[in-house]
Amino acid sequence: EEVKASGLRGRGGAGFPTGMKWSFMPKDDGKPHYLCCNADESEPGTFKDREILRWTPHALIEGCAIACLGIRAETCYIFVRGEYTEPADILEAAVAEAYAAGTLGADALGSGRRLDVIVHRGAGAYICGEETALMNAIEGKRGNPRIKPPFPAVAGLFGMPTTINNVETLAAVPHILVRGAAWYAGLSRSSPKSTGTKLISVCGHVRRPGTYEITMGLPMDELIFDLCGGMHDGRSLKAVIPGGSSVPILTAAEVAGCPTDYEGIAAAGSLLGSGGMIVMDDSTDMVFQIMRLARFYAHESCAQCTNCREGTAWTTRILERILRGEGTPSDLDLLLDIADNMTGRTICVLSDSCATPVISGIRKFRGEFDAYLSGDRAPALVEA
Ligand code: SF4
Repeated sequence: EEVKASGLRGRGGAGFPTGMKWSFMPKDDGKPHYLCCNADESEPGTFKDREILRWTPHALIEGCAIACLGIRAETCYIFVRGEYTEPADILEAAVAEAYAAGTLGADALGSGRRLDVIVHRGAGAYICGEETALMNAIEGKRGNPRIKPPFPAVAGLFGMPTTINNVETLAAVPHILVRGAAWYAGLSRSSPKSTGTKLISVCGHVRRPGTYEITMGLPMDELIFDLCGGMHDGRSLKAVIPGGSSVPILTAAEVAGCPTDYEGIAAAGSLLGSGGMIVMDDSTDMVFQIMRLARFYAHESCAQCTNCREGTAWTTRILERILRGEGTPSDLDLLLDIADNMTGRTICVLSDSCATPVISGIRKFRGEFDAYLSGDRAPALVEA
């Protein structure tokens, strides 16, 4: 109830209310319950959970313990991105400390309850950050997303009721319980539906890239131009992808005055997502950057769904040929048609994630595509 009252929402990207998610777990069902912590942070531009794992792993472990209590689980798996070797080493050492101190184990904190935290290292697949793929990977299966329903709260890890939360979400929970839901809910500069603080990882063309903890609602231009030091000399802001690479691109005009929270960024036409902010100045070739994103999603598609498997690869090939100066006038309509067929038609949202920057890129920066198609812009070097 305290977590519900705080207004805490999932920090992994979806922004679903955390306390409500916990309340979906069945009561008195007699089955083992599981908590999964999603530390498979692989979205391009997103590196904020890494800092929690590296610098304050005990906040996460404590959050896992409290969440286990809330959902009546005695086992928590923390699934760590395979490439995060140093953060995983630090987390494993902290878990060992928690066992040694009696915080975890057969009689956690003298409560008479068993509480285990198991660190599970991934093997480097982006798709394992999708919650059902993550559960498959923990079970030792290929990390493919599952069709939903059933949802994890009904049949999740090992077929048992499961809650999956992001690292940042769980690390906020001890602070909420120590200082109270009202304190947390009061941390808001704009929308009352966006409470607390948010870690924003900022990368790209700013003077001071890094991970910043902001109060929800801080104007995005204040974050970029004040905290991050703005653009480099002689450059101006061109575009921002505000929530990891899979959300619509914002122009500089849309960024101005936009509150950095769920509602503010949605009103500007994009999503807060994971809080991975990719900042681009006026030297950026938008066609090239969108091609690189499409290439990433084509590489990471698990290939179960035709629209995703074929769509991500086809999109990449069309963008590459536009950049090489070999595009045709109908290519933009074709890209939009493919993107339409990739949206809302697949098992998970990886397909949508590839289509989204293509759609917003063509809509907002069409002149750059046209310049390649007309020959006004020299072909780019596109490596295979
Ligand atoms: Fe796999 Fe793509 Fe289908 Fe997701 S949308 S399940 S990544 S093929």
